Amino acid sequence: MKVTLYGAAGNVTGSAYFVQSKSCNVMVDFGIFQGEKSLESNNHILPPIDASALDAVILTHAHLDHTGRLPLLVKHGYAGPIFATAATIDIVGIILRDAVRVQAHELRRTNRKRERIGEPPVKPDYTEADTEKVLSLLTPIQYNTYAQLAPGCLVRARESGHILGSVSIELTVEENGDKKIIIFSGDIGPLDMAILKDPDPFHEADLVFMESTYGDHNHRPLPETLKEGKEIIEKAILQKGKILVPSFAIGRSQQLLYYMARAVHRGNLPEIPVYLDSPMAIEATKIYSSHPELYDEEAAELLRLGVIKGDLSGMIASETAEESMALNEIEGPCMIMAGTGMCNAGRILHHLRHNLSRSETTVMIVGYQGNGSLGRRLLDGAKTVKIFGEEIAVNAHIASMGGLSAHAGQSDLLSWLQPLASSKPMVVLSHGEDRGRKPLAELIKNRFGIMPVLPEYGNIITL
Ligand SMILES: [Zn+2]
Repeated sequence: MKVTLYGAAGNVTGSAYFVQSKSCNVMVDFGIFQGEKSLESNNHILPPIDASALDAVILTHAHLDHTGRLPLLVKHGYAGPIFATAATIDIVGIILRDAVRVQAHELRRTNRKRERIGEPPVKPDYTEADTEKVLSLLTPIQYNTYAQLAPGCLVRARESGHILGSVSIELTVEENGDKKIIIFSGDIGPLDMAILKDPDPFHEADLVFMESTYGDHNHRPLPETLKEGKEIIEKAILQKGKILVPSFAIGRSQQLLYYMARAVHRGNLPEIPVYLDSPMAIEATKIYSSHPELYDEEAAELLRLGVIKGDLSGMIASETAEESMALNEIEGPCMIMAGTGMCNAGRILHHLRHNLSRSETTVMIVGYQGNGSLGRRLLDGAKTVKIFGEEIAVNAHIASMGGLSAHAGQSDLLSWLQPLASSKPMVVLSHGEDRGRKPLAELIKNRFGIMPVLPEYGNIITL
């Protein structure tokens, strides 16, 4: 049996593992490449596989870099089941529908430009109908339960603590009377992830594909990060300004809502209005609140006490553009969370245009800001920025609450591997650049006596 890596090999996006044995062909994740220009051309073409000959697809979680090429797969003839946990199925719906909308929007812009220079229009990689077909194929799997995935292939999914519904996947593949256990970690969350349970351990494997995004360092301890956030918010409240939080819609927004509600409950912060100005984040929050069975003990307790309600906190939702606009008129102190997380698009831009020139405003950065993004320019201390073609003076306080991450840092990754190490599996470090995977490989070699494989795109791992 063999596994071919069609992504997340030496880089952090495009997860896709093609598992082949004599009796089955299975794809684990099928995501797009994001922000890695040399790899993005792979988003438009199918890898050299026969999509119609696949027995099954299974997803570790809903993020686009694990699911974004699924429409391409059905366009090329795949019509079998796409297995995922119930929460992942709910979130995939939001993510893939949004992706096809964004694709159509960008294509219209590209084609207008091409028309002006007499070039023929570019066709989309896939259509809305392909996306809907993907959603119709989604089939729920249970946690911690063995089930038949394909002929000669059993699956078991266990919590990975990364986003709601995320799991690591164990396949037991039988070939010539021989059974092999292959584990795909998916994205592993940090041990103290808000709301979610910690990753569940595995104890035995022949082959392990393990993510290595932050294999080179540990994140700052969470209590320090939260203390920093509290100080930023307290200062902003004294200035009676708005706290603008550029935030990713799924995962990070719910985490922040949770921390705000918990801080008020514990008396660490006074209650201020929290507006969630993002239809996608509102939808994701509803999905989080519809899966209390996935909460950790603390979140379950806060739910019982009524501290987090159906919407995770006392947040006020702005679904429509009018509701969003009305936020211009309200007075601080208040918090407004809006997308996108790097301030490259979305409703946060309107709030920034309206409030950046005011000295009482605070912009609280809570996530990674890519090079060239507006969020990065603000963090770097830009005195003015251009938003919708307009030059805006930056008089607001720009603050960063660093350390929040949905990925395990170095020592949490090692803790995840620890219970597996005594079975001496082959370890393949995927979902990581050299910066992350090389130091981790060194540690795994020294600590467990296993020399991990560092794959490249298209590499085949044979068992
Ligand atoms: Zn992810």
